Amino acid sequence: MRLDRLITLGLVQPIHRAVSGPRRAQLPILMYHSISDGAEDAVSPYYRTATRPAVFAQHMALLRAEGYRVVSLQTGLREFRSGSSDNGKTVVLTFDDGLRDFYTSAFPILREHGQTASVFLPTAFIGDQPGHFKGQECMTWSEARELHEAGIEIGSHTVNHPRLYELGFADIRAELANSKAVIEDRLGSAVVSFAYPYAFPVADRSFVRAFGDVVAQTGYRYCVTTALGCVKPGDDAYRLKRLPVNSSDDPALFRAKLEGCYDWLEIPQRAFKRWKLRFLDSGRRSNSFSDSMGASLN
Ligand SMILES: [Zn+2]
Repeated sequence: MRLDRLITLGLVQPIHRAVSGPRRAQLPILMYHSISDGAEDAVSPYYRTATRPAVFAQHMALLRAEGYRVVSLQTGLREFRSGSSDNGKTVVLTFDDGLRDFYTSAFPILREHGQTASVFLPTAFIGDQPGHFKGQECMTWSEARELHEAGIEIGSHTVNHPRLYELGFADIRAELANSKAVIEDRLGSAVVSFAYPYAFPVADRSFVRAFGDVVAQTGYRYCVTTALGCVKPGDDAYRLKRLPVNSSDDPALFRAKLEGCYDWLEIPQRAFKRWKLRFLDSGRRSNSFSDSMGASLN
């Protein structure tokens, strides 16, 4: 059995429920990628990114049966920050990479349950004909427009899906600004949400601070990341945590994640990243500080 699952269900969830009950002031933002039967046997369950359509349907049915309200990222954050959300019973679904299987497999299930989502597009891979990202088909602009008109929030996931941490801030700014402009032009509607591609470098505080400034300056209001956990009152809107979900989330683990009982994993994860930054990655970005933002990072 997976250790993270064992600790979550055997230790953390019983303590959470005994101390405060399942409802608390938090907003779970679920992170999905592909809704497909993609085999990922060689990948550890934590890092898998495919959710089988049957499992996704099971997740959505569970949300509905247990009274969860599914809202877009911008609605969820606006309500949560104003204190008007139904704490513990609102959830946000996010889908990275602009994959076409969102349109063909996830969207019909969401529509059946009257649920919505936020989808993040890497715009260089979105065309008038289906492009490909890491071997998987991406949605087209006309499909993105149809989703947008059906109430699905469309956000940015950069232009080229680069490792932003390895770029200078001028290039980072271009990735954020250009993708936003293209989506707004294609859909005729403002884009306020951004999803950070690849692992978010939480341990590098100066990068995180400077990156947040770029997110704000390029006109976004929200940025979701791979940092793990539910959103809590007072959290920074430019480095929002999410809960990774895939085919290995059976109903018990899925429910525990929604209740905030998986958030504990962020502590060892963050400690490991700090250790890695200190001993393995030091100086990694030193050559990227050539633009005007660089001086403030040293
Ligand atoms: Zn991505």
